[in-house]
Amino acid sequence: MSENENRESLNFIEQMIEEDLKSGKRDFIQTRFPPEPNGYLHIGHAKSIVLNFGLAEKYNGKCNLRFDDTNPEKESDEYVNAIIEDIKWLGYDFGEKALFTSDYFDTLYAYAIKLIENGKAYIDDQSAEEISAGKTNPTIPGIKSPFRERSVEENLDLFERMKNGEFDEGSRVLRAKVDMDSPNMHMRDPIIYRIKKAHHHRTGDKWSIYPNYDFAHGQSDSIEHVTYSLCTLEFRDHKPLYDWLIQEIDIFPSEQTEFARLNLSYTIVSKRKLLRLVEEGHVNGWDDPRMPTISGFRRRGYTPNSIKNFAHKVGVARRDGITDIALLEHSIREDLNKTANRVFGILDPLKLVITNWPEEKTEMMQAVNNPEDESAGKREMPFTRELYIERADFKEDPPSPRKWYRLGPDREVRLKYGYIVKCTGFKKAEDGTIEEIYCEYDPETRSGQDTSGKKVKGTLGWVSANHAVNAEVRMYDRLFKTENLNTIDDDFINHLNPDSLQINQKVLLEPSLKDAKAGDRFQFERQGYFIVDQDSTEDHLIFNRTVTLRDNWKK
Ligand code: ATP
Ligand code: MG
Repeated sequence: MSENENRESLNFIEQMIEEDLKSGKRDFIQTRFPPEPNGYLHIGHAKSIVLNFGLAEKYNGKCNLRFDDTNPEKESDEYVNAIIEDIKWLGYDFGEKALFTSDYFDTLYAYAIKLIENGKAYIDDQSAEEISAGKTNPTIPGIKSPFRERSVEENLDLFERMKNGEFDEGSRVLRAKVDMDSPNMHMRDPIIYRIKKAHHHRTGDKWSIYPNYDFAHGQSDSIEHVTYSLCTLEFRDHKPLYDWLIQEIDIFPSEQTEFARLNLSYTIVSKRKLLRLVEEGHVNGWDDPRMPTISGFRRRGYTPNSIKNFAHKVGVARRDGITDIALLEHSIREDLNKTANRVFGILDPLKLVITNWPEEKTEMMQAVNNPEDESAGKREMPFTRELYIERADFKEDPPSPRKWYRLGPDREVRLKYGYIVKCTGFKKAEDGTIEEIYCEYDPETRSGQDTSGKKVKGTLGWVSANHAVNAEVRMYDRLFKTENLNTIDDDFINHLNPDSLQINQKVLLEPSLKDAKAGDRFQFERQGYFIVDQDSTEDHLIFNRTVTLRDNWKK
């Protein structure tokens, strides 16, 4: 590859990194993934994880996992643990241990003192409303706080007393003294510390003050010597403040670069909204297989690879867009097609009796586990007089045999890996439903040893009635029926798809699945990909449908 071609295949962040390495501006790569532990990670976070950890891997650098834990009321260890589990599951290594912004509270406090001492921060006694009103709007200069010119001594004294818990919440804040006339509202003396008498999941009741995002985030980047602080586009306007603070405190020059957040069709990617789905009981928890959380996808049967491949396919953009969820579904199909063993699972069973097959006779048939992977080997399936096939594979009044290859009166099909059978009749219940169908098999047509010369176009799945394993299958569909949920705010609940979960208790599986364990993945031939759910017990197997074999939504 010439240097030019190589450059073209790099995304804009990789180009920047390679230029920095070449010019000597940087000699190592440190990135970080900085979740706030106030919910479970979703597919948007997965994109950020793949980007940050992926760059560190690619350029021999490091990526930290740092919890941005500065809002004690909303954060918890449950979320910390879930996030760690998700990142490990994706296969990324964040070094010896996870890092926490709360570990830097002492350092951050010292940075704030330094700003005060240099006349770059002050305690403001105004109320939140007064501060907000004083910022006015970008087109006119802001109104300076009457407390802006407090002496360094007074500021230091008040800040210490804020820390010691002497003042009420909301009575005072620490503001950076930047520029009340800036057209960038983030530069109009932003609040960097506020009083909060909340219990913190790690520091307990030690602190009565907590740093704000803009102060904690960039400074933590700097403490960790993060070279590339990658964040989503909404932080673009924060960058001047990010740079100002690092410069004024005079610490390691981390650099912020923004990229477009991932939006997915038919999907919500906001922890706040996902929390609502959980709290209001629209789903069965954060790891409900319909949830776009990493834990939801894991339980649904997605693989780490499928999620990583998806993130790579989406790429890194500078402008927001919306990605078709079909791309994610394509990624999991592509992965499972190569790795999942094929089995027969009959979702809507209809009994088929082979009338010329002896009652007690069982023949073992050889079935291929995975046509994409010879090393997956073969298994045996018992073929008997009474079988079950898929109800949809029989029609009393079928269309022309040129259009419809499956079973109907007098029609012939192959039972895959078994024999060719011909339908000789069927029995109907009083309500008109077909109860069972009757066939005769041709002994010359055993699969692999067929001497009949017969050609049939239809091949059906089946299971032996006496050997079949009963199972429950949970069929998932999209959680929302609306394609673009981006512009919909609190009303998003009204866009839920009422049919997103259908439970089928009557599924019959081939006997090789008897010992399937939670987490095992299979392709049920012609139906889709399925995974054994963790709710399964020894005598009650439960499967989640990961994805259908084809996209059923494209009409
Ligand atoms: P949410 O709005 O869902 O709470 P957030 O950005 O507030 O998301 P954080 O925990 O602060 O959640 O995010 C951690 C990291 O993940 C940040 O760097 C953030 O930019 C990134 N991130 C969050 N959502 C997305 C997304 N949809 N696409 C790409 N990156 C994202
Ligand atoms: Mg956030």
